[in-house]
Amino acid sequence: MCGIVGYVGAKQAVPVLLQGLYKLEYRGYDSAGVALLEQGALRVIKTRGRIKNLEELTRQQGPFSATCGIGHTRWATHGEPSDINAHPHVSGNGRVALVHNGIIENYLELREMLKKAGFTIQTQTDSEVVAHLFQMHYRGDVVQALRETVKHLRGSYALGVITADAPDQLVCTRRDNPLIIGVGEGENMIASDIPAILALTKRYIVLSDNQIARITAGGVEVTDELGTPVEPRVETVTWDVAAAEKGGYEHFMMKEIFEQPKAVRDTIAPRLRDGLPALEEEGLSDELFRNVRNIHITACGSALHAGLVGKQVIERLARVPVMAQVASEFRYCDPIIGPEDLCIVISQSGETADTLAALREAKRKGAKVIAIVNVVSSSAAREADGVLYTWAGPEIAVATTKAYSAQLAALYLIAVRAGMARGTLSRQQALDICAHIAGLPRQIEETLACRAQMQHLASLYANRHSVFFIGRGTDHTACQEASLKLKEISYVHSEAYAAGELKHGTISLIEPGTLVVALACEPALVEKTVSNIKAVKARGASVILVTNDDALREDPEICDHLVRVPRCPAVLSPSLSIVPMQLLAYYVSVMRGCDVDKPRNLAKSVTVE
Ligand code: GLU
Repeated sequence: MCGIVGYVGAKQAVPVLLQGLYKLEYRGYDSAGVALLEQGALRVIKTRGRIKNLEELTRQQGPFSATCGIGHTRWATHGEPSDINAHPHVSGNGRVALVHNGIIENYLELREMLKKAGFTIQTQTDSEVVAHLFQMHYRGDVVQALRETVKHLRGSYALGVITADAPDQLVCTRRDNPLIIGVGEGENMIASDIPAILALTKRYIVLSDNQIARITAGGVEVTDELGTPVEPRVETVTWDVAAAEKGGYEHFMMKEIFEQPKAVRDTIAPRLRDGLPALEEEGLSDELFRNVRNIHITACGSALHAGLVGKQVIERLARVPVMAQVASEFRYCDPIIGPEDLCIVISQSGETADTLAALREAKRKGAKVIAIVNVVSSSAAREADGVLYTWAGPEIAVATTKAYSAQLAALYLIAVRAGMARGTLSRQQALDICAHIAGLPRQIEETLACRAQMQHLASLYANRHSVFFIGRGTDHTACQEASLKLKEISYVHSEAYAAGELKHGTISLIEPGTLVVALACEPALVEKTVSNIKAVKARGASVILVTNDDALREDPEICDHLVRVPRCPAVLSPSLSIVPMQLLAYYVSVMRGCDVDKPRNLAKSVTVE
């Protein structure tokens, strides 16, 4: 999510900060700002929109002689993208300026506490509270103040702070969000990523979680959370800049595949209270779930595939009928939907034209509409009655991976809450399934270990002309996404089939050498799927079997290759089985020489009908 920079040295800070921010543009943002220590006082310049607007403002309001400052590009999570919500944020006494990447989960509690202590809250962001807390804890030492401040924070953050009380010092820390320190000669920087420091230096320190650094022109002092000094390891950049922007990965898609544990964690963690989903703030009350007649899910592409998983999970856990439909059809089919119904629209960008039209159709007919979107204040977020944001951070690759996984996580939370409200899940059952949901980020991390195996399998099958993905139940819905992933980025024709449906026609397409990828992660359906796999194997297909069933082996009657994924409840299994499928699609695309991040004819956000 977004970008932080900071500079202290002998140069004028504004141009250094701006060029650093430009280098972080690839991360996605909606506003930008800088704070400077200008002749003993803080100056903050910030605006919604592009960095070039910020550059123009600094020109109009300058010149500035400051040699110490911080800068930020914001990807809004809490509060709309606006001038006032842009970072840096300033503390109540106007002497502390702060930039933050991440999410402060307990910001509402902190706000109340600060209001009681006499602070006025100026913005809608979760970040502002941290500036006030820093002021409260400042007793003459910036490091000590930051150490005390972070003790109050729950969530994820990278923080950069300057104060007029300690000019020419920058202090920073992080937890679960990236932050590096660029080490120069008589000047130093902080940044979210390496490209931002390269104009100044190739030498950098990677700050570890919970470490705090005091940075001056002449040096960098790092301490751990207890205050014990740490000898930092200075590394040297050896990659080229383009690689650096992708965090060392060759493509954004791979980087985003590996960001999935964090995207899912950030989507789930803020919404679990005492181990159960709390969705009132998102507009999803128990009363709504108790009284709802039908739930309609409507979306396009991968978001629809997330919705199809959602349908299965909500129906199984909450026993309410769920229709999931392509948004471009929903809008024209005169849907049977009314005030007794709930409509869930899903869109990464929140700007998908067909999805917005479906949203409007549902509202016009009186249904309550909830949007699951990744972009704060996007059109879907503004027009819906409630919003459940996925906190996946900006997604750059056209083929979605982390946003899809975060959408699944959001739908699981809805399913559990609906089940509790409707009495189809006991409190204990809900607690158990939530424990599994909370464990998914770690299991996704484990699943990512199949990367080398998927690369190998891609090398064996990259030249196939047609691939079938088969499975039953939630495996079938995961197959739909797996198939789309492969075809959209590698241009290999593929189809997803309910395994039991093959014999009703499609099996005639299977011939020696056809690749069939079978998903079998629903324990109750594994045997049935295995029978279907045997039928394609007998007709000469090459089979890759993805399963969490320990009893299945690489048996030549069943499969040529076995990919193991961790075990989890069947309804959650698409979150894990999709990971090897994303990797397979990725490597096939690379091996066929396709443009992985920007596949032909496709756009990231489809704003036309
Ligand atoms: N949660 C913060 C906000 O909405 C920071 C977002 C970011 O990482 O840019 O302002």
